[in-house]
Amino acid sequence: MKPVAIMGAMQEELAGLKQALQGLHTVKLGSRQVTTGTWHGHPVVLALSHIGKVAAATTATALIERFDVTEVIFTGVAGGLAPGVNVGDMVVATEFLQHDMDASPLFPPMEVPLYGRAHFPTDVRLTQSLTKAAQDILKNPGQWLDLDVLHELHVQSPKVHAGLVVSGDRFVSTSGESKALQQRLPKALAVEMEGAAVAQVCFDYGVPFAAVRTVSDRADDSATHDFARFIHEVAGRYSLALIGTWLGQR
Ligand code: SAH
Repeated sequence: MKPVAIMGAMQEELAGLKQALQGLHTVKLGSRQVTTGTWHGHPVVLALSHIGKVAAATTATALIERFDVTEVIFTGVAGGLAPGVNVGDMVVATEFLQHDMDASPLFPPMEVPLYGRAHFPTDVRLTQSLTKAAQDILKNPGQWLDLDVLHELHVQSPKVHAGLVVSGDRFVSTSGESKALQQRLPKALAVEMEGAAVAQVCFDYGVPFAAVRTVSDRADDSATHDFARFIHEVAGRYSLALIGTWLGQR
């Protein structure tokens, strides 16, 4: 059976997932450590991409070439952009775009040259099944993590959103930049640094791709305040819950 690839950008986001795998085996691909194993009887390849579009694209390419994966799923954190996309919510991407791609005036701003497109869709069926898993988790977040932590981080009734997620090689951490992005891309729910790159690689190879991000910050002047705590105490648990629930429902 071919494996499903699970990617994440930061160690803290993937640590719990690694512990859940059975029959662990570690493989080195360049400077990436990749872990293979099974979970709920499904073969899985787990890879830490590191941060940014280049790191994510090379990791996705290596996984596809080396393991012939059936699907690629990215899990991690993002900054909320659209109103109502709050810290503690989950965002399931239906499409991605690189907000910092600009080969104008030769090509329209944000269009990836020679692809004739700026938007890269995620796989509809995979995205639907992950949305269901995300909704199931947020119905009862206390099953997965300490509710006191959520209260301390001011998370109230977390929701699942589905829509456009934008990526760029910038950690967006000023209200000015966040507002400018919202004005330029009013449909964008969240911003992060890897998804659009992986979406483009999966588009090139015809491999189904989906991504779910927990909102760690609002991409504004306070974006860094609780970031480290959120990654440690919330994001990793949600990633674990999400992938475990999703594989269990397959
Ligand atoms: N301070 C961190 C760096 C994290 S970079 C460290 O020391 O490791 C931010 C990571 O979280 C990226 O992987 C990105 O995809 C995601 N992310 C979360 N909030 C973001 C935001 N406001 N802007 C861009 N990326 C964000």
